[in-house]
Amino acid sequence: MGRPGQGRVKHLRKQHSILHKILMMIALTGLILGSVIITAGASTIYKSTEKGIETEISMAARTMSNLYRTLYNGELTYDGEVCRIGGSEFGYSDFSLMTNCISCKDDVDFTLFYGDTRIFTSVRNSDETFAVGTKAAPDVVENVLNGGKDYISSKVLVNEKYYKGYYIPIESESNGVVGMLFAGKPLDSAERNAVQAVVKFLVLAILTLVASSLLCMLFIRRVVADIDNIKCYLGRLAQGDFSIHLDRRTLNRTDEIGELAQYSHRVMENLRDMVERDPLTTLLNRRTCHKRLDELCRNHTCYTVVMGDIDFFKKINDTYGHSAGDHVLKKVSAILKQHTDSNGGFAVRWGGEEFLMIFPGLTAKGTYPLAAEVLSEVRAAKLEYEGRNIEVTITLGIADSTDGSEPEKTINAADELLYYGKNNGRNQIVTAKTLEKTSE
Ligand code: GH3
Ligand code: MG
Ligand code: MG
Repeated sequence: MGRPGQGRVKHLRKQHSILHKILMMIALTGLILGSVIITAGASTIYKSTEKGIETEISMAARTMSNLYRTLYNGELTYDGEVCRIGGSEFGYSDFSLMTNCISCKDDVDFTLFYGDTRIFTSVRNSDETFAVGTKAAPDVVENVLNGGKDYISSKVLVNEKYYKGYYIPIESESNGVVGMLFAGKPLDSAERNAVQAVVKFLVLAILTLVASSLLCMLFIRRVVADIDNIKCYLGRLAQGDFSIHLDRRTLNRTDEIGELAQYSHRVMENLRDMVERDPLTTLLNRRTCHKRLDELCRNHTCYTVVMGDIDFFKKINDTYGHSAGDHVLKKVSAILKQHTDSNGGFAVRWGGEEFLMIFPGLTAKGTYPLAAEVLSEVRAAKLEYEGRNIEVTITLGIADSTDGSEPEKTINAADELLYYGKNNGRNQIVTAKTLEKTSE
């Protein structure tokens, strides 16, 4: 069971996380931007659809007017039963013929008015008969019959049904207006078209908004995950843990987060070197050596310790100076490092001019040839310093670990063998076998 208040702390931490803040920002921006775009877009689309319908009916009315003028000449008359144009009778078949020639989309109705009365129309009553005999609205009479100009009415009532309609006056030979031509669309159908267009836009806009928000969230989740990787990495580094690894994906990023990861990694490497290595020779230090040997012991891995000490090193310092001594230490260290690294071991600066070479998985016997190579390479090394050639030798003591024994014991054993070598001529390798032979 979690500690009391732990849930609250977790919740607070979540609230203060970058991811939470960015997601809130996206949601807020999406909401504001989305509502502005959707409202403005929907109203624009609604208006343009309305405008489209107005264009459609005005075009239909004008086409009908042109047809009327082309096909029929003369005065329009109507005596309540028969309609004539220029003396010729004009019937429903003529009206249908004329309106059928007009190519427009569905739902457009046509009417021929005599005065303000519908004498031919495709507008139907509720009983499906044509709405003949009904009258035009007062605003239409005012504008078209009296005013003699085209007129668009956005809401005209014909037999309880609303229309959006376009009226064109029919002038008589004496220049007065004798009738009207009308093309219109039922308002419910016009509105349905507009609403359909708006719904299509809304669906598209919302889908686009959701898709772009999802993409944005996926991208941000990734960014935040990488920042989190670096945070965990630095957190463990702050606790002195150098066994950490930074996720490859985070390290390989080419943006600022990638740079941050690479810098963090470099900081870790530098810190690790400062803590684990000797600054002069860059070999592992004593503390790290103990850590590694403990680890070998824990894993029951056998190993061999070669302890080396440069012969008469004090004399080198005294003869050539301390800097020359440092130079020699670096060169000898490089030889030891090269031989340990290439044989799966590690080299340590144990102190002053004393070194350890540790070879996991090898016995003293197996290590002997490697130690012999080191001995002869140090002897042959050209350690030139400020134009002067410095010759140097080393004495090595080799001891291997006995199962389960403390590393300290193996190191002491190697130290004793080295001490023996120092007292017996230096510049040599001493193993337990060497002592056995001499004591025989
Ligand atoms: P032996 O053959 O018995 O080992 O003789 P030695 O002279 O090598 O040994 P000794 O212990 O008498 O002298 C070691 C010298 O190493 C003394 C010290 O000043 C020198 N030394 C220790 N650390 C450093 C270092 O970092 N740089 C330099 N230049 N000298 C160092
Ligand atoms: Mg020495
Ligand atoms: Mg010494």
